[in-house]
Amino acid sequence: MNAQSNYQLDQSIQYIKTVGPKRAETFAKIGIRTIKDLLFYFPTRYLDRRTLLTSSKASKVVEEGYEGELTVIGKVIDKDTRHFGSKTVLNVKLRDVDGFFECVWFQGAKYFQDKFNSGDIYAISAKPIHSRYGELSFVHPDFDKLSEEESKTFFNTGKIIPFYRIPKELRENNIGDLSFRKIISFAIDAHAAELRETLPVHLIETHHLLALAEAVKQIHFPENEEQLSKAKTRFSYEELFYIETLVALRKIDYKEKLKGLSLPIKTDLVKDFVKTLPFELTDSQKKVLKEILADMKSKKPMHRLLQGDVGSGKTIAALISMLVAVDNGYQAALMVPTEILADQHAKSISKLLQQFHSIYPQYEIKTSLLIGGQKKSLRNKNLEEIALQESDIIIGTHVLFEEQVHFKHLGLVVIDEQHRFGVAQRARLASKGTVPEVIIMSATPIPRTLSMTIYGDLDVSTIDEMPKNRIPIKTFLRGESKLPDIYKFIVDKTKEGIQTFIVYPLVEDSEKLELKAATTFFEKLNDTYFKDLNVGLIHGRMTWQEKEETMILFAAKKYDVLISTTVIEVGIDIPAANIILIDDAHRFGLSQLHQLRGRVGRGTAQAYCILVTKDEYAASSARLPKELEYLSPALLEKYKSSIRLQTMVQQLDGFKIAEVDMKLRGPGDIFGIKQSGFPELKYADIIKDGDLLTQAKADAFEIIENDPQLLKEQHAVIRKNLLEHYSENLKYAKVG
Ligand code: ADP
Ligand code: MG
Repeated sequence: MNAQSNYQLDQSIQYIKTVGPKRAETFAKIGIRTIKDLLFYFPTRYLDRRTLLTSSKASKVVEEGYEGELTVIGKVIDKDTRHFGSKTVLNVKLRDVDGFFECVWFQGAKYFQDKFNSGDIYAISAKPIHSRYGELSFVHPDFDKLSEEESKTFFNTGKIIPFYRIPKELRENNIGDLSFRKIISFAIDAHAAELRETLPVHLIETHHLLALAEAVKQIHFPENEEQLSKAKTRFSYEELFYIETLVALRKIDYKEKLKGLSLPIKTDLVKDFVKTLPFELTDSQKKVLKEILADMKSKKPMHRLLQGDVGSGKTIAALISMLVAVDNGYQAALMVPTEILADQHAKSISKLLQQFHSIYPQYEIKTSLLIGGQKKSLRNKNLEEIALQESDIIIGTHVLFEEQVHFKHLGLVVIDEQHRFGVAQRARLASKGTVPEVIIMSATPIPRTLSMTIYGDLDVSTIDEMPKNRIPIKTFLRGESKLPDIYKFIVDKTKEGIQTFIVYPLVEDSEKLELKAATTFFEKLNDTYFKDLNVGLIHGRMTWQEKEETMILFAAKKYDVLISTTVIEVGIDIPAANIILIDDAHRFGLSQLHQLRGRVGRGTAQAYCILVTKDEYAASSARLPKELEYLSPALLEKYKSSIRLQTMVQQLDGFKIAEVDMKLRGPGDIFGIKQSGFPELKYADIIKDGDLLTQAKADAFEIIENDPQLLKEQHAVIRKNLLEHYSENLKYAKVG
């Protein structure tokens, strides 16, 4: 019986009433082949009752000044076209229960006039107006065709009417809204009952979810709002549950199947090193170190995300962890995304270690730097040091994990700014026998719901406190007409020994244009406001050596001002640079702005971040309400860039900024999901469905912890569904 029903769902849709072989071919073009495909082709929206009015009521509210969208359902009674010179205007008249209204098209009259025939029933949606003759008019409205019967049941029973995305391939073959809805309803009547459940029964029961067949029915033809919402919840939950199941599998795979090292504290090395630091560790740094050290000591492989805002002191925490590996006779590697950052880390770490050595001569810890573009002789020397364990701490870019690099005893890998590395690289690390301990550092604070998915297989440590000596950065938003004053401010501040970054955005992703923008400003400013200052220039077209040279000169205060494109975004640490001016700030994303601001305020002096934008943006940002959280989605959309800028002015906390960022971007555009190797979300919204996600995670982890192979009878459904629908994502987490 089961096999039989499954077979039917996999049949071609040509057997659905009114379809047939020819239409089936058309459907195949848009990827709908089987009956099951059709059942899972969900509506994109529904006729919205909340804005539905009769024509006379609509007329009244418009008179009273209502300015939003409305929907009116009516029957076409007449249409005519009028010609004004070369222009043709189409006018369609409709009637509903209590009056008349019209639709007007100033463009495309020819195309639209064929769609409206006497007797057709349409739902018309737009912002209505009153025409010169006092008639209720919809100009260029959205319109959806309804059948007589649909419109009756709609009014009588309140049944909700679905609308589907109908690609032009179907429309060209005479499949419109009406016939599409019919086909779907035939398919549901005949086959929905054959759908086999894809969630374990106990979860459906405990969470009062709709069963699959019922949910499919309700998502297409909801009985009412409540059923529609239950159907959506079921699909969102299911989606999140399977993602979290993948997360749980991946985590258990790493923890249980791989062999790890046990790296306890052996000598006083770490304790003595901490004594030589020029500052006291923050409580937060101590807390994350405790978590990391416990992991290192345990035999299970460490796989931990170390997150903390820009400047919160992750690097020191990582270095101390690396010293624990060294204390155990192992090497440690630090992988960062750019050469210039690798170079900077290598220098600052060597400096700390030299100072350590000068106070405690018994500890001599050696570092190597391995990056692309090094001379062959130097590279060979580095490779040899790594292979012979003459160097203990190795800093570099992704080249650290090229095949020619052989670590003698690699105990710990720290990956900085992980969002640039995909999960594939992480998996590669694990592929070489006993795995080293792994810490992934992220300076992009991400909201909890997001970290539960893309980082859900990692344990998380968070530094949630800034070093105490910091003075909060002052952030200002100014229109570009204020630039002359800002330049004067910068010149004044140089007299106090304060250095400035000036950042220009990348223009249209073109390095050539970017270069032009930065060099043009460089020359202009050099000749005018900054003619008495030393100004440096850094941009993406320079080699890393050239960039490094410029950065070194800047760090040595040979420049007062450094003009740059976004190449300074990551990690750079110049304590005397305390002003950052970001030009055309509205072109940057929020997290990028926050990263850029993090380049200043790293020392003990007052730092300033000045965001410059068009005058009108600056003005509209200033008018935004204080509580951005309460803005409606429509306003959020309209004022996106103003909100980004205003958020920067109001907020220093990277986690709060990340939340706003996620809200503005929307779930489809979230950084990191794609690289994470998890499926993209189709139904669930990672922002709005936070509670559902928490629940799904708890359920999935409980199941996988108790039955990692999914061998129990009641879990067979999960196993089957994973193999059927998520085989692509199982690459990094195998079942059984
Ligand atoms: P992150 O990597 O988190 O962005 P860093 O580790 O680069 O931050 O630290 C930023 C700056 O703060 C560095 O100059 C570092 O030496 C300094 N720092 C780190 N920890 C402390 C602390 N506990 N107290 C004072 N300064 C600190
Ligand atoms: Mg850093």
